Amino acid sequence: MDLRLTPTQAAFREEVRAFIEERLPADIRERMRRGHAPRPQDTVRWQRILNERGWAAPHWPKEFGGAGLDTARRLILLEELYRAPAPLPLGFNINLLGTVLLRYGTEEQKTFFCPRLANVDLWFCQGFSEPGAGSDLASLRTRAVRQGEHYVVDGQKIWTTSAHVADWIFALVRTSQESRKQDGISFLLIDMKSPGVTVRPIVSIDGEHHLNEVFFDNVKVPVTNLVGDEGKGWECAKYLLNAERSYIASVGLCWERLEYARHLATTTTQAGKRLIDDPKLAAELAVLGAEIRAHELTNWRFLSDPDIARNKPAYASVLKLKGSELLQETTTLLARLSGTTGLERRPAEGDDALHPLAATVPRYFFYRAMSIYGGSSEVQKDILAKTVLG
Ligand SMILES: Cc1cc2nc3c(=O)[nH]c(=O)nc-3n(C[C@H](O)[C@H](O)[C@H](O)COP(=O)(O)OP(=O)(O)OC[C@H]3O[C@@H](n4cnc5c(N)ncnc54)[C@H](O)[C@@H]3O)c2cc1C
Repeated sequence: MDLRLTPTQAAFREEVRAFIEERLPADIRERMRRGHAPRPQDTVRWQRILNERGWAAPHWPKEFGGAGLDTARRLILLEELYRAPAPLPLGFNINLLGTVLLRYGTEEQKTFFCPRLANVDLWFCQGFSEPGAGSDLASLRTRAVRQGEHYVVDGQKIWTTSAHVADWIFALVRTSQESRKQDGISFLLIDMKSPGVTVRPIVSIDGEHHLNEVFFDNVKVPVTNLVGDEGKGWECAKYLLNAERSYIASVGLCWERLEYARHLATTTTQAGKRLIDDPKLAAELAVLGAEIRAHELTNWRFLSDPDIARNKPAYASVLKLKGSELLQETTTLLARLSGTTGLERRPAEGDDALHPLAATVPRYFFYRAMSIYGGSSEVQKDILAKTVLG
């Protein structure tokens, strides 16, 4: 697509492409091409390679180990990672917690945590949602009571991605009861090895274990692990949810999956004919491609114009909503292309993981969740109704 990259941007894209070509381990690329999510060890291995090059934290300033890239180059890096396909830098560390620490963290917190986040020496998970507090997050009830130089935390989180592999969790907790429920919430960093933390797995519809419940029973957390002011955690949470928007549209992921669908349609035959020779399927692939391109242009427009981001926050909702829909359509198409063979396969380790169709059906199921996490589609539509339609 002609996005008219400047010569510097085009050169940067070539530099990233060459780096990925040379350094991305072949086994990680191959698993991901087949549609599998990167395993934790893949994310760690690749992020450390990116970190050596200074690209693990694209939007952080250089003094804290980031790449200090402008928006356009950040997006180019992201899209090249998707295109490869390669694991993205761990979002919980880089986009979410890192972004919040750089704004609200103390010097000690930034100096201690930022290099460890960039190199995934510490893996963080996100403890926001609770039973009864998802879309309505401010209703959360996990309590932290100050006792001297510690908080004592009691309560439960749910849907916590990767809690079973995480070293730490950043959690929203209630430190006081105020009349406005957004007040009295604080942002705490909790070591998962602390006595009283229990993690219980939730296996999702794709048959995989990504999600967990996390229980806190009298967990002692040093006061120095509070980020921002006590009772002002909602501000950090809002900043975090708005912070790094290049990821929200999932454009590169849609392209990569569509390319794989085209590849399968061209290489799979049925009754002696290639699937792509069916004009209906060819048209479907073309329409999806056109829609992803339009989505991509909207994303560039949004990211390259700070005034749009400031004055038209509804853009972010459009990108989240449309990105979820397109990724779901693409993965539905992939599952259809895999036919009954897709149903026979499970994304297990070993040979099966490298079967071309092993991940199509489980990933179809997994991406149903995209219209739920990060703000559900209904909630995005509510925002659009309020801010655009009035
Ligand atoms: C795969 C996955 C990974 C996740 N990872 C994490 C994580 O790492 N950390 C974390 O903290 N959370 C995580 N979540 C939780 C996620 O943020 C919540 O599921 C989400 O916010 C929705 O909350 P809920 O599940 O409580 O559903 P609810 O908020 O109860 O919503 C139920 C239904 O009601 C609809 N609804 C709710 N409010 C409105 C409204 N005002 N108007 C119209 N419709 C409405 C919703 O759209 C939805 O369809 C994850 C979720 C999933 C699925």
